[in-house]
Amino acid sequence: MLSELLAGAMPLVPRPIMRRIAGRYIAGETQDEALAKLTELAGKGYSGIFDILGEGAGSEQHARNAARDYESGARAIAAAGLDAYISIKPTHMGLTPTDDSLALELYSHLARVCAELGLFLRVEMEDHTTCDGTLRIFEQLRGRFDAVGIVLQSRLLRTPQDIADLSPTQLDVRLVKGIYIEPEAIAHTQAAEISDAFVAAARDLIARGGVRLCFATHDGALGDRLIALVQEHGLAPDTYEFQVLLGVQEPLWQRWRSAGHAVRVYVPFGPEWRSYSQRRLGKNPALFKAVLRNLLPL
Ligand SMILES: Cc1cc2nc3c(=O)[nH]c(=O)nc-3n(C[C@H](O)[C@H](O)[C@H](O)COP(=O)(O)OP(=O)(O)OC[C@H]3O[C@@H](n4cnc5c(N)ncnc54)[C@H](O)[C@@H]3O)c2cc1C
Repeated sequence: MLSELLAGAMPLVPRPIMRRIAGRYIAGETQDEALAKLTELAGKGYSGIFDILGEGAGSEQHARNAARDYESGARAIAAAGLDAYISIKPTHMGLTPTDDSLALELYSHLARVCAELGLFLRVEMEDHTTCDGTLRIFEQLRGRFDAVGIVLQSRLLRTPQDIADLSPTQLDVRLVKGIYIEPEAIAHTQAAEISDAFVAAARDLIARGGVRLCFATHDGALGDRLIALVQEHGLAPDTYEFQVLLGVQEPLWQRWRSAGHAVRVYVPFGPEWRSYSQRRLGKNPALFKAVLRNLLPL
């Protein structure tokens, strides 16, 4: 309840204060700031993910502008020789629950650019209304380009079937719990069920074979279960990695890295940081508590 009230009050927080709070989680407003953060992380042994904050493009022009900015980012990453890739929300490329066409066009262009540059591209997953469209786009891209990956959410009851239905034989999957609060009829709602489903999805993906697994989580207990799974199956270190969000649970990244597990850091940035953060917190107020807990001795 408190976090819902606080999240609702966010628009009232003055911009400089919000900027200071967000500064821990967001690299800045410009591509140069994102590149500088990726370079700093590379110096500490972490590979990176380049993410321009934004979703729900709203207009075709907005989606085309976002795709142009991603292309510029991909070229800058390649020029800097960084171990990083671009990761894109489908609605930022114009996907809607009823129309895949613009998003498919823009992702296809970016996948071609990334293939030429030798970079990877990740198609992210948003709420359940866009899952089918996102998987259709992924399948079409993956039919033409190798270095394209997808995200699957353990919260969603459909995920085991999605794993069974994915057609590429070689896959690169980011597994997440899922940030969107979904209706009970289609999703696990208890934390323990979501974690169990995460481990079960990882097990299913390993059983398929030919999968590179990215465990995107800051849940140390879940991480321990995933490491046990990796060891049980004798996975080679280059066939899996942990992925984390900038500013969240850094001691955990260090623990994983020093134990020999690769860790890749998601670096979000962009001029839309404030409205994006407000929308995210409004949709999932529990996040606000996590942010406060990280910042204050609560
Ligand atoms: C690299 C990466 C990419 C992602 N991509 C997607 C995606 O494409 N689609 C999607 O639905 N979800 C995505 N997510 C979000 C994911 O689904 C979860 O909502 C998020 O990671 C929180 O779950 P958790 O596994 O860390 O466990 P939790 O149990 O939620 O968190 C564990 C602990 O981490 C801390 N924590 C977690 N998240 C935050 C935060 N944002 N700020 C501050 N502290 C936090 C809290 O202290 C919490 O106690 C991504 C996450 C990561 C790390």
